Amino acid sequence: MKILVAVKRVVDANVKVSVASDNTKVDLSNLKMAMNPFCEIAVEEAVRLKEAGVATEVVAVSAGVAQCQETLRTALAIGADRAILIETSTELQPLAVAKLLKAVVEKEQPGLVILGKQAIDDDSNQTGQMVAALAGFPQATFASKVTVADGRASVSREVDGGTETLSVRLPAVVTTDLRLNAPRYVTLPSIMKAKKKPLETLKPEDLGVDITPRLKTLTVSEPPKRAAGVKVADVTALVEKLKAEAKVL
Ligand code: AMP
Repeated sequence: MKILVAVKRVVDANVKVSVASDNTKVDLSNLKMAMNPFCEIAVEEAVRLKEAGVATEVVAVSAGVAQCQETLRTALAIGADRAILIETSTELQPLAVAKLLKAVVEKEQPGLVILGKQAIDDDSNQTGQMVAALAGFPQATFASKVTVADGRASVSREVDGGTETLSVRLPAVVTTDLRLNAPRYVTLPSIMKAKKKPLETLKPEDLGVDITPRLKTLTVSEPPKRAAGVKVADVTALVEKLKAEAKVL
């Protein structure tokens, strides 16, 4: 079975971002970029399924600017076998990415498609669900455990107050939650090995997909600044303030 894993290049989770002066976007110039953390979990899961003998090949795919190659090389260093870059400098929205991924699904015919549950830059949580709908595949989102056997995937999901387990027929779409696994540390030898793995570059036109943005961002603003705190002399003063000022008691 072949597994297709979608990986997105996003601003590094440890970087503090700020809004551009025209309030239309987050300013990403000169910021450290990295693989979306949920996508790292997706690659790790696919590679573990291959190591367990369930999958035979792991193909990583990313859509975006040429620098997404670096993200794909990271996926290859974790253990993916080959990579596909769908290169474009047009801003990509979830529906466009889903259409591109659906076209890659048709070309590659994977048994399982794994995506992150959300990208930490746009927080959309849409792409996996849209790929499943477009490809006509069952979906199991927010996976915290995945087992594959007899043409089906059993996927546990954390829900309010417990765990829900779904059984989906393959091919299917699975999106990863935080507790699915802890991605491995990428070693220097694996980074060197990844440089030699195949990376194919396609354009959206090659896949016959229209990626024109359909949504327009009106404004982006910073959260309100927090007011400075005060020190209270003792518990009595704290209780008084909670009653009189915060009005929470
Ligand atoms: P989102 O729906 O934007 O929150 O993204 C959810 C998941 O879809 C990500 O974790 C990726 O697995 C996948 N994805 C989103 N955008 C891209 C992209 N440009 N290239 C590859 N995968 C993507």
